[in-house]
Amino acid sequence: MEQGLNVCDTKLQKAPSAGSVTRSADNLKPQSRETRRPAGRIASAVRIAGLYGHNPKQNNLLAGLPADDYDRILPHLELVPMPLGMAVCEAGVEMEHVYFLTSSIVSQLYESRDGTATETAVIGHEGIVGVTLFMGGGTSLNRAVVKSAGYGFRLKASLLKEEFYRGGALQSLLLRYTQALLTQMSQTAVCNRHHSVVQQLCRWLLLSLDRLPSNEMSMTQELIGNMLGVRRESVADAAGKLQDEGLIQYTRGHITVLNRPGLEERVCECYAGVKAEYDRLLPATLRNR
Ligand SMILES: [Zn+2]
Repeated sequence: MEQGLNVCDTKLQKAPSAGSVTRSADNLKPQSRETRRPAGRIASAVRIAGLYGHNPKQNNLLAGLPADDYDRILPHLELVPMPLGMAVCEAGVEMEHVYFLTSSIVSQLYESRDGTATETAVIGHEGIVGVTLFMGGGTSLNRAVVKSAGYGFRLKASLLKEEFYRGGALQSLLLRYTQALLTQMSQTAVCNRHHSVVQQLCRWLLLSLDRLPSNEMSMTQELIGNMLGVRRESVADAAGKLQDEGLIQYTRGHITVLNRPGLEERVCECYAGVKAEYDRLLPATLRNR
């Protein structure tokens, strides 16, 4: 079976319970007396995470906080593994935590009644899953599902709200991030309506590439079609053109981007517009290789 997230057919994994997440995080480190105390356990999870190469500052929003604000949040951050297909948020359900992503990528989706799904935004190390919590609405019509496995740090919703309503640096960052996210969502709607599948595929590849540590990704044509809301055959045609032009290599669900500048020339204006807004609004730019 090819790797990748099947939005329509695969039973998506539920977000781990608090207990299971704690156990998963604890699997990264040897057990100690300290880990049996809740406060110590959380602090220890962050400390041990550092030993294994996980650092909350791999998330651009956390990295952009002044030291006092960061230090206040740090003891409450929990490292969480985010496996492919994990449902981070369900439509209509209020989240118990927000997720500051580091190495994982999450797809925000709208699922229709007939089971088809369309990606409305992609979120990576530049952002957070859970904007509805601090915007005041609590829930949304979208799901959020991990489309590239990795890690993130989660924070209890009550603590995030408390910090947000202080009116300090985190509030400012989160509002700016939300504006960037809204830009991406509205531009995605424009792109899906007016631009060719080749252009949409280029945009989708570049947005994903900006949030990945390499130029490779695992994703079947069917899944890409689900994300873009187009037929698999259309994705196959578009991927074939990009491959013929030497921009990508596509083999059995594995995509390697060979020529990023070439993709940037081929893509519609939607990609550059969204990226410019992210660069303008957020403290650190997306990866650009
Ligand atoms: Zn476009």
